[in-house]
Amino acid sequence: MMRASHAFDLPGRRATPRQWTKPIRSCAIPAIVLFLFWLAAAPAVAWSDRLHALIAEEAVQRLPSPLRDLFSGAADLDRLRQAAIAPDGWRNPESPHYRPDERPNHFFNIDGITSAPYPFADFPRRRADAVKKFGADAFKEHGTAPWAAYDALDALAGALADGRTDDVFEKAGQLAHTTADLHMPFHITKNYDGQLSGNPGIHKALEIGLVHRYFDFYSSEIRTQRRQVPYLADAQGRLFDWLTETYARIGPILEADAAARLATAYNPADHPEDLEDLASDRARPYYAAFKKDLEARGSPEAAAIRDAADHLAALLYSAWVTAGKPLSLAPAPPPPQPSPTGSYWWLLLPVALLPILFWPRRRPNLKS
Ligand SMILES: [Zn+2]
Repeated sequence: MMRASHAFDLPGRRATPRQWTKPIRSCAIPAIVLFLFWLAAAPAVAWSDRLHALIAEEAVQRLPSPLRDLFSGAADLDRLRQAAIAPDGWRNPESPHYRPDERPNHFFNIDGITSAPYPFADFPRRRADAVKKFGADAFKEHGTAPWAAYDALDALAGALADGRTDDVFEKAGQLAHTTADLHMPFHITKNYDGQLSGNPGIHKALEIGLVHRYFDFYSSEIRTQRRQVPYLADAQGRLFDWLTETYARIGPILEADAAARLATAYNPADHPEDLEDLASDRARPYYAAFKKDLEARGSPEAAAIRDAADHLAALLYSAWVTAGKPLSLAPAPPPPQPSPTGSYWWLLLPVALLPILFWPRRRPNLKS
């Protein structure tokens, strides 16, 4: 049986009152008050944030050395995780980091843009060609994610080449976020919440409800099938190939969800409060059935998460190769220049002291 959350693993919760000695109890009350303040002050972290962070972290693990060393230190990795989460703040009108043009960068409803059937073989991959064919408004409505990812890749290569560390993290985070979004099956279809197929609420049921409950499973699945990271000569084309592969996962996930709804008489759209409520007895049978049915279909959602990390690693590697394989992020500080007096300035000290030694002293006045 897998534990779905670590939030309840705080050691204090396991201690029985009998084990608490008096001094500990006197410390515990202020500690609890502080903890409650911390809970109130901490920003609400959605589970999809946790997944974005996991994908970025795994991509770094997949990178070859010495590129991996640029991101794998604890502080750098944490910075990259935060950067990978940040773009969801940019698209949120209530966030202080809101960017009005950000929203379409997070999805690409390809079946809303073209009426051509899967696998969309003739879809133009260059933005200019696609805009010419479908008009700019189509992409405001249905998204721009593959081009946003490509722009982030290009900007990352530039930042790496110039050693602009802040930009490297921002662009790498943006690339990580957009690549992950492109691998989420319900970010690339007009049926983005199952509303066209009788699966309402599937988007969050998959992204939050399911992933949240089985996070240990997804954390371990993402680490499988590591391979040598390839350089991508045509990254823009590959982004569209991956989008098509992800699209093929929509059908099996909808079928698994439909079977789980039928078997458990549960509709996740009716109970949004259950998404993050791991203790919900009402939701448990549905998510267990959904997960089991997905497993019987080869866990396409786990494959999507793993591919996101694998493909992100290839993109990061390609940006680094394009940038000329820099070995450090910030430009190396200039070597210390020897001063004209070198390090022998202390030889001048006695000279400086001479006036003190020979300064005319006031003679004591002998006259009474
Ligand atoms: Zn997003």
